[in-house]
Formats: sequence, C-alpha cells, structure tokens
Amino acid sequence: MGICSLLMMGMHTMAQQQTENLVIVTLDGMRWQEVFGGADAALMHNSKYTNDIGGIQHLFGGKTEQEKRQKLFPFIWNTMAKQGQLYGNRKLGNKVETANPYKFSYPGYNEIFTGFPDTAVNSNDKVLNNNTNVLEFINQQQGYQDKVAVFATWDVFPYIFNKQRSKLYINADMDTAHAGSSTMNLVNDMQSLTSKPIDVRPDIFTYMAAREYMKANQPKVVYIALDETDDFAHHGMYDQYLRSANAADRMLSDIWKYIQSSPYYANRTTLMVTCDHGRGEKDKWVDHGDEIKESGQTWIAVLGPDTAPMGEVSTKQVIYQKQLAATFASLLGFEFTANHPVGFQIAGIGSPTQQTASIKPIGIAK
Ligand SMILES: [Zn+2]
Repeated sequence: MGICSLLMMGMHTMAQQQTENLVIVTLDGMRWQEVFGGADAALMHNSKYTNDIGGIQHLFGGKTEQEKRQKLFPFIWNTMAKQGQLYGNRKLGNKVETANPYKFSYPGYNEIFTGFPDTAVNSNDKVLNNNTNVLEFINQQQGYQDKVAVFATWDVFPYIFNKQRSKLYINADMDTAHAGSSTMNLVNDMQSLTSKPIDVRPDIFTYMAAREYMKANQPKVVYIALDETDDFAHHGMYDQYLRSANAADRMLSDIWKYIQSSPYYANRTTLMVTCDHGRGEKDKWVDHGDEIKESGQTWIAVLGPDTAPMGEVSTKQVIYQKQLAATFASLLGFEFTANHPVGFQIAGIGSPTQQTASIKPIGIAK
C-alpha cells in the first residue's frame, strides 16, 4: 500500500472518531493484583500491615475475587468493565508491562508519556526530562493549544514533563490553582492547611483542583496523577493503601459523572486509567524496582465513545507501557512523533479501523 492511500485511510478513520477530549488518571504503584483480584486476604489479615483488620475486612473483604474487586473498585468494575476495556489480568494471559527495566516512578511516567523507555531516565531526581512527551505534542496541535492541563500530587511532575520547555499547564503538590472561583480558592486554602500525611498534598486536593479547573476552563486533555497508593505501600500500610485505592475509584466515578453531565464533555471524552509500575508479592508488596520481578506488571482501563465494550480483555498478549503515548494521541486523531523512538499504539483502544499498518512497531530493546 502506498503512502498516499495510507494517509487517506488515516484521514477517513479520524473523521469517524468521536473522542475530542481525553482524561488520563494514574494511581502510583497500584498493583494489578488488587485491581483484578481485590484486597489480598493474607495482607489484609496481617496485623503488621493492617491495623483495623475487622474494619478493612468489612469494607473490602469477600468470598470471591469478583466480590472483593467490586468492593475495592466499584466504578472500574460496574462501569468501566461493562462499557469499556480492562487490560492486565495476567491470570487470563493478558499482560501489561513496563519496557523500562527500572520499575519505579520517573522512568515509568517517562515511558507512559514519551513512548520511549529511555535507559538514561533512571532516577526519581528533579531532573528536566530531555524527551518530548505526548502532552506537549498535543498542546501544539490545532485546537489544543493551551487546552492541556496536568494536576499531580507528586512534585517531580514539572520535571518529568519539562515544564520549562513544554510550557504545559502543570499544577503539582502545593501549587496554587488560579481559576478565579470561590470553590478553587477553598481548595487552595484547604491544601495549604493540610497536615500532609504523605509529605506532598493528599490526592483529594489534586483531584479537586483538576475537577474545578475543568469546570472553569474546559481543557481538552487533562492528566490527573494520584500518588497516595505508592506512599502508603512503602510505609507498609496495607489498610491505607486500600482506602486510597478505593478513594481513587470514587474520584474516577465522580469525574465520569461530571464528564457525562457536561454538554462540553459528554460522549466526546475518553477516560484512561493506568499506573507507573507494579509492586512485589507477599511481603515484597511494600516495594518495587528492578530487583522485584512483579513490579514491572501494570494494567490499563479505558472508557469512552470510541472504545468497544469488551470488558475484561482475555486476549493472550503483552502490551507495553511505551504504547500508551501513541494511543493517547491516536484517540484524538493524531499520530505522535518525536525526536526519539515511540512505541506503537495499542490495538483495540479507540476506533477499530484505526489499527492500520501506518504505525509500525519499533524495536526498542526491552
Ligand atoms: Zn514507589
């Protein structure tokens, strides 16, 4: 097939897509084991990791994995799994993994948003990222200028997205959000007075700033980076890890309710949820990194007008985190290119006719 006919095919499929807006949410270090299996009974009943075993059992316990996951992630299982797609249940042979070998946050977020598991990105330090990310790429496209916004709990995101170069709107940790509304002023006041149990602001302030910004400014692409799950896990607090995961699910439910009630966003917005890395199993659940094999295992959930309601995907496949950047762009009808290699988009997310040969797999060493 010649280049011209491929281009025409690309144009054609773009016209069929309904997604004009994209909301991306990440839950830092949230294991696929809980997403697909609910609370881990052994960890939940271990007093080393769970203070109020009875209370947590009441909230998130159950006889089957189906019952437990529904309690922990009711929005993911009642709405996203019914109307959208879930990837990463390794018990079904469906795998999502990091291509970067490090399996911690900065390399993970770099891989998600640049599509390039760059081995030079190997620390969590506040170093400006040299790699171009898909959010700044989208922010340069017609109709999307100054319509991309990032809200993050972790204060390293301005470096991951290279705020200086990308000129993206980024609100991280204790940054004050300027929306000129009394609601936003209240959010700003509250976050400045919080006890900050995880050192950075609690996720609820990140979420509320994002939601109120959406109401006031109608950005077309919003990224919400939640962090509590990873922090509580590192502290060995399984109960708080579960509570934060459940709160994140309720935030997903809340944002979807807003999206579908807004004439601006309804039926034109895709929601994608994922994480930067997994964690170990049994007592290793508290940690992650290159020495803990399972910490490269992640998951993806998608819901939107161009995503077929396949539910829990059981196709035997391996999807890499580096494929997300091109997938985000493709949902909006763009092909993400950069001055570095970019992983090819995930087949099955977005318009089914869009998975053409025009975007070829690239050989990045895993
Ligand atoms: Zn971590």
